[in-house]
Amino acid sequence: AGVTRNASSFLHERAFVDGKWVSAASGKTFQVTNPSTGGLIGSVPDMDAKDTEKAIEVAHKAFQTWKETTAKERSGILRKWAELCTQHKDELAKVLTAEMGKPLAEAAGEVAYGTAFMDWFAEEARRVYGDIIPTPVKTRRLLVLKQPLGVAGMITPWNFPNAMITRKACAAIAAGCTVVLKPAEDTPYSALALCELASMAGLPPGVLNVVTSSRDHAAEVGKTLCKSPLVMKISFTGSTPVGKILLEQSASTVKKVSLELGGNAPYIVFDSADVGAAVRGLMGCKFRCSGQTCVCANRILVQEGIYDEFVQKLAETMDKELKVGDGFEAGTTQGPLINSKAVDKVQGHVDDAVSKGATVVRGGKRLDGNFFSPTLLSHVTKEMRCAYEETFGPVAPILKFKTEEEAVAIANVTSSGLAGYFYSQNLSQIWRVAEQLETGLVGVNEGVVSVPEAPFGGWKESGLGSEGSKYGIDEYLQLKYVCMGGV
Ligand code: ADP
Repeated sequence: AGVTRNASSFLHERAFVDGKWVSAASGKTFQVTNPSTGGLIGSVPDMDAKDTEKAIEVAHKAFQTWKETTAKERSGILRKWAELCTQHKDELAKVLTAEMGKPLAEAAGEVAYGTAFMDWFAEEARRVYGDIIPTPVKTRRLLVLKQPLGVAGMITPWNFPNAMITRKACAAIAAGCTVVLKPAEDTPYSALALCELASMAGLPPGVLNVVTSSRDHAAEVGKTLCKSPLVMKISFTGSTPVGKILLEQSASTVKKVSLELGGNAPYIVFDSADVGAAVRGLMGCKFRCSGQTCVCANRILVQEGIYDEFVQKLAETMDKELKVGDGFEAGTTQGPLINSKAVDKVQGHVDDAVSKGATVVRGGKRLDGNFFSPTLLSHVTKEMRCAYEETFGPVAPILKFKTEEEAVAIANVTSSGLAGYFYSQNLSQIWRVAEQLETGLVGVNEGVVSVPEAPFGGWKESGLGSEGSKYGIDEYLQLKYVCMGGV
C-alpha cells in the first residue's frame, strides 16, 4: 500500500498475452495520439489475425484450469484487482485523459465506475446458483448447473476506455471464462494498464489477454474472434454497423453474442416537469464526455407550455457551467472530440439543422483542433439529421411538441432503443410513459442512470443482452440440465 507511481509508468507499449508483454509477430506498431493536443503518446503493437489466433489458443488453454477454480478464488482475485485500481486511481485517470481527452475529474469518475464492476462481479461470482427441479417421474432427479462458456472475445470502444472493459471482462472472469480483448485503437493504454494491475492481483497468465491493433487490422482481428471454433462468446460495444458485421460473422459457429450498440436517446420534458431539475439533468445527460456516450440525450423534446423557459434556462446554465479546454486543465468540463472525423460529423448535423430553419442559440462552431463549442439549437424539427441520427457530440437540439402521444411517437420512431429520459411530476403520466418508451433504460426525473447493480442493455437495434446487474454474469454462463435416473 501507499506505492506512488508516475502515471507514465502505466503506459505499456506492448500487448498482453499469456501474462507477458508481447510484440506483434510482424513487429509492426501503430501510433496513439492525444486528441486534445494532437501530440504523440507512443506506439503499441499492430496485431493481426495470426497474433489473435495465438492469443485465443492461450486463452483456451488457460480456460482448462480457470474453470476449475472456486468462485471464492475468482472473487478474491477480482477484489484484489479492485483494491489495486483504487490505489492507482489517479494514475489510471491520467492515462485515460491523455488518450481519450475527457476532463480529469470525469476520467476519475470513470475509473471509480470501472472499478465498481470488479467489486460487483467479485460478489456475483459467489452467487451463481443452479436449480433442483421437482421431478415429474419418481425415479429421477432433475438438476440445472450453470457452467462457464469458455473463451470470450471482446471488442471495446474509445469513449469509456476503462469501464467498458471491466463491465465485460469482470463478468467473464467471475463466471470462470477467459478473455481475448481488442481495445479501441484510440485508447489501448487504459486496457494495458488494467492488465498490469490484474497480474499484480494474481490473475493467472492467459485469463485476460489484450490484443492491440490499428484500425486497419481491426476487421481481421474481429473476424478471427468471431470465426474461431475455440471462442464461445463475443461481446462488443461500439457502432451499430460494426455490431451487425460481428453478429453475422458469429453465425458460422453459432456463438453467443452480446452487443451494446448505438443509441438515439429521447429526452422529454413535459409541461408538468420541474424545469430547473430538467435543465440540470440535461447538463449531465447531454454534455458528459462532450456528448460522446451512447446514452447521451440526442433529441430533446420539450412541451410547448415550457419550451421558451426551458431553452432560456438551458442557455444560461451552459454559459455558467461549460468550459471547453484540455482535460488536464483545472475547470475544464468539455474536452475534445475523439478525432477530426467526429468534429466533421457534428458540424454536419449543425449545418444541416441551420439550413432547414433551426436557430443557433449557443455555439454551433468548430474550434481549433478537435474541439467543438457546446451548442444549443432551438426550433429543431423531425426532418433535421440531428433529430434522427446519433450526433455523438456536444449539441442539444430542442424540438417542440404538443401532446404526450406525439412525444412518445417521436421518441419511439427510431430503430435504436438504448436509453430514454423524461421529466414529469404527474404520477399517471410517469407510469404511462415509462411503460411506453421502447428503450432498455429509462430515466425518470434523472439524467444519468448507469450503475453496476442495474442491467444495461438496448432494445431494438441497440443491442443484445445485458451488462452489469445480476443478469450480466449469465451472458458468460450456459445452463446444463442433468437428469439422474434409477433413483
Ligand atoms: P466508433 O465509431 O465509436 O469508433 P466502432 O464500432 O467503429 O465505433 O468501433 C468500436 C470498436 O470496434 C473499436 O475497437 C474498433 O477498432 C472496432 N472495429 C471497427 N471496425 C471493426 C470491424 N469491422 N470488425 C471488428 N471490430 C471493428
